[in-house]
Amino acid sequence: VSTTKENNEKEELLDKDRAHLWHHMSPHNDHPHVFVEGKSSWIKDIDGNNYLDGMSGLWCVNIGHGREEVARVAAAQMSKLAFAPLSQSHVPAIELSAMLNEWLQGDYKIFFSNSGSDANEVAFKIARQYFAQTGKGTKYKFISRYRAYHGNSMGAMGATGQAERKVKYEPGGEGFKHAPPPYCYRCPFGQEKGHCKMECAQAIDEMIEWEGEETVAGVILEPVITGGGVIVPPPEYLKEIREICDRRNVLLIVDEVICGFGRSGEKFGHQNFGVEPDIVSMAKGMTSAYAPLSATAVSSHIYEPFKEKGKTNHFRHVNTFGGNPVSCAIALKNLEILEREQLIKQAKDKGKYVTERLAGLTELSLVGDVRTFGLIAGIELVEDKKTKVPASPEKVANVLAMCKKQNILIGKNGDTVPHHNNVITVAPPFVTTKEELDLIVETLYVSIKNANK
Ligand code: PMP
Repeated sequence: VSTTKENNEKEELLDKDRAHLWHHMSPHNDHPHVFVEGKSSWIKDIDGNNYLDGMSGLWCVNIGHGREEVARVAAAQMSKLAFAPLSQSHVPAIELSAMLNEWLQGDYKIFFSNSGSDANEVAFKIARQYFAQTGKGTKYKFISRYRAYHGNSMGAMGATGQAERKVKYEPGGEGFKHAPPPYCYRCPFGQEKGHCKMECAQAIDEMIEWEGEETVAGVILEPVITGGGVIVPPPEYLKEIREICDRRNVLLIVDEVICGFGRSGEKFGHQNFGVEPDIVSMAKGMTSAYAPLSATAVSSHIYEPFKEKGKTNHFRHVNTFGGNPVSCAIALKNLEILEREQLIKQAKDKGKYVTERLAGLTELSLVGDVRTFGLIAGIELVEDKKTKVPASPEKVANVLAMCKKQNILIGKNGDTVPHHNNVITVAPPFVTTKEELDLIVETLYVSIKNANK
């Protein structure tokens, strides 16, 4: 029972929030939900209510909340060396770049930044400069897919294929083109899942042709479109895109911001599909969000034309906080925890378990499709299974609200617009127990059932 003093303090805090804090991606909210602490898969709000964090925050707290050994590493690194610029070097960045190469099973140079958006901006700039310095300076365009999210800054927003996040902010970066996604449930080419010629991959080849091969620098894609609706491509899709990029002299940039660091059941999402990207961007799961950090891993052969000494052909890009020693030390500890506790295998096994359990949801009239990839699930809600008319934003919001009432936090795709806002998303921490996963599935079942009443 909260005391009057506690209530007064809480009201003061909420007043300050209303007066000063601009919330991300949300309309003004007079009653913001304030969280104060977290442990494992649970986060507690200011009133003491505990919630099962079914989205790992924003698909990021993969090792779970409240790991004191991470805090200890952060404190030790802060005491020792809180900052040194990466135009020079420091120990945590060196160790982390070597470790990332082990995880990537390739030969990459690692450029550190702060966020997923940053990591993608760096990928675009490096790709353009690479071509400029190898005699192909006309190559500047990037192809991504509709429904993909690649970040909020002008270039990354340009690559993003979700119109609802761009209206009123455009024009963004120049030269970003969009291809139809490999959306088998609503195939843009009218084909049936498993009975197609992967027209979606061919479309990218055709776009390069129409745009002019000599103008296209890269294709950027997530292994699986996550935030845009958990859109899982046919198994051979990525290999086909790799082949197209090789044939067209176009770089393959894989955005592992969500899929990386075990979320897919492998260390990186693309490792599920047997392809080697030219550039890999990563963020969120690299530190499990205990500190901001991102990286752009660039295949060594692309680094070559940046190497010459005494010229201006180095990558002329800096960001103050990128590769901060404390963030790098935290990332190293996070990777150690993922390995030591075999959390990636757990993510894979738990992903399979969730897939089996979610199959039962398809009997509900509102459920059109259930898609999973590693420990990610997307449940596409429709008004009618035959016509596939997307469920209304109100119904989707209802499902989320009912789950929240039962202390389960889940997510949805896109912003609040009809048609691209009807996929419920689940991506819990890898430490979530089977009983907790059961709780998520059962709460979802009841909430979706009741949302259609
Ligand atoms: N790429 C993908 C696939 C993402 O999901 C996100 C963030 N949700 C980003 C890039 C951008 O990352 P950030 O928010 O750290 O800029």
